Parts: sequence; C-alpha cells; structure tokens
Amino acid sequence: MFTDECFEVVEAEIPEPADGEAVVKIEYFSLDPAMRGWARDEPSYLPPVQIGEVMRGAGIGRVVASKNDAFPVGGAVTGLLGWQEYALVGGTTGALANPLPDGIDLLDAVSLYGSTGITAYFGLFDIGEAKEGETLVVSGAAGGVGSIAGQIGKIIGCRVVGIAGGPEKCRWVVDELGFDDCIDYKAGNVGAALREKCPGGIDVYFDNVGGDILDAALEEMKDFGRIVACGMISGYTAAERPPGPRNIFRIVTKRLRMQGFIVIDFLPRFAEAAMQLGVWAAEGKIKNKVHVVDGFLSAPTAINMLFTGENTGKLVVKL
Ligand code: NAP
Repeated sequence: MFTDECFEVVEAEIPEPADGEAVVKIEYFSLDPAMRGWARDEPSYLPPVQIGEVMRGAGIGRVVASKNDAFPVGGAVTGLLGWQEYALVGGTTGALANPLPDGIDLLDAVSLYGSTGITAYFGLFDIGEAKEGETLVVSGAAGGVGSIAGQIGKIIGCRVVGIAGGPEKCRWVVDELGFDDCIDYKAGNVGAALREKCPGGIDVYFDNVGGDILDAALEEMKDFGRIVACGMISGYTAAERPPGPRNIFRIVTKRLRMQGFIVIDFLPRFAEAAMQLGVWAAEGKIKNKVHVVDGFLSAPTAINMLFTGENTGKLVVKL
C-alpha cells in the first residue's frame, strides 16, 4: 500500500509558459491501480516514476496562461498532468496534453471519456470481440472500468454478469447499471456461482482482477472464448508475485484466447471511443459514477481505496 511517507509535498513557483507552452490549473486528477506499478522500480510499459519526480497521473483542468493558440486561456485540457496543482503543457518540455471541446463536463472527461471509459470500450470490442447474444462476465464490476464495460455489454445485447465485493456493490451493479446478475466474490465460491449464473459457459471474460477469480473463470469458459486481460489488481500490492492460475491448461482444452492490452495502444483511436461513449451517455444508456475525494493531499491515502475496494465507480481527486 502507499503511505504518506512515500510522498513529499514540495512548494514551487507556478511556471511561466514559454513560446508554445501553456499553464493548466488542475481541477481533478484520476487515481488508478496502475500507479502502484509505476511506483515499482522495475521495467514496464512506462518507465517507473523515480524518487523525486512528480507522481505520474492523468489530470484535467483549465488554462490560466498561454503562449499556444491550441490551449486558449479558460479552455479545458487533459493529459498526463501529474499530482500537482499547476502543470506546464505543450512545447518541448510541457506534459503531453490535449485541449477539450468547450462545455465538456470535467468529471466526465477524466472518467467516462478518459482512459477509464476508453479502456472498457477497446477492451470489450477489440480485445474481447464481444457480440450480441454472448455471455459476458466482468470482474471489478462496480469499479471505473468494469462498470462501463458491463454497461457497454448490455448496450450491444450481451448477457452480462458482474463480479464485485459485497452485496451493496452487487445490488448497485444490477439495479442501477442494469447488469443481468452479479456475484459477490466475498461471499464464497466464485466457481460455483459462475456455473449457476452462466450455465452455458462464458464467451467473454473481462478480467480486472486476476488471481483466484481468473482461475474460476478459466474453468467456466466456453470453447473458443476470449479473456480480456485488462488488469490483475489482486496482485498489485502483493509482496511477492502470486502463483499462476491452476486452470491455465483450460486455454488449451477450450481453445481460448487471452490477450492483454494497455489503453495507450489505442491512442490514435481515442476520439472514436470518446464519441461513441458520449452518444450512449447522451441517450441515457450509460451511467457514469465518479467517486470524488476532496483535497490534493488526500491522494496518497485515497489511492489505497482501489486496493481495499472502498471506491464505487471511478476514483478521482478534486483539488
Ligand atoms: P476500480 O475498478 O475502480 O477499482 C479497483 C477495484 O478492484 C476495487 O474497487 C475493488 O472492488 C477491486 N479489487 C481490489 N482488490 C481486489 C481483489 N483482491 N480481488 C478482487 N477485486 C479487487 O479501478 P479501475 O481504475 O477501474 O481499474 C480496474 C482494473 O483495470 C485494474 O486492474 C486496472 O489495472 C485495470 N486497467 C487497465 C488498463 C489497461 O490499459 N489495460 C487501463 C485502466 C485500468 P471490489 O470491492 O469489488 O473488490
């Protein structure tokens, strides 16, 4: 788990934009399970955050000073702005960031139209190849990515069964989000519950958690099913790498395809996903639940809510 001791609060001058740059006052930043991996000093798909660097993270805010016409003062901007109150964007030294259309809701933009919704979209369609009439199981169902993935599954006509921790989350997933069913993994035998809720087997398993739940799902997959390896949060805070799934041989006997992905693989197509998610939201077909925690300095503690399951929906810090 993260502790306050992992972070230092540093006060600095608000940067001045040079030509091509703009300064963004951050209003929200996203807390993501991946941050635990970024803080681990080992090679991965992004370089580890080094001691003394600003903690990496996606954020959103408004331009307060600009020498770049693409980032007008007052305009909304999102990008890897980091855990800070002001960020320099654009030019050669600023963070990678994009201007957003006028009138966009900043909380929606950092969640549904941000990497959370976009991960659900490409995970389900491009990796899982989910189709109408199929049985889709989504773990982490009451979290940011899972809650959107399951709702997209319903929109395209899948039968959707969620897996989440506790009866309250399961009730929310079914009653509010419209999943067909939900399994409380904390209540006991997930394998037996999957057999009961998906008697014909699982076509697509959207995996956010790994571990024992992945193992149980492997056993219940249909022949030629697809497993979307989106995340394996059950192992992120483990001191040692967890053992592999006992049922991995099912990939052979059931001719399964299990594929990982990182949402940034789809960067050139982000607009496609955001537009479709926007249409569904406008039509009232997707509910976007954001779990907002107040205050910049609460981030080091709040991020652990992802690992204890205290969040429902996308976890965001309001500055
Ligand atoms: P989230 O689902 O909002 O929060 C994490 C949730 O995981 C918690 O609320 C908790 O819910 C559940 N959880 C924690 N420990 C668990 C355990 N041991 N077993 C089962 N469930 C556990 O977080 P998110 O940001 O939407 O991310 C969800 C997953 O997607 C993560 O694995 C993340 O790494 C992955 N992700 C991948 C990509 C990508 O590009 N591949 C992008 C974004 C996110 P319960 O109360 O139900 O336990």
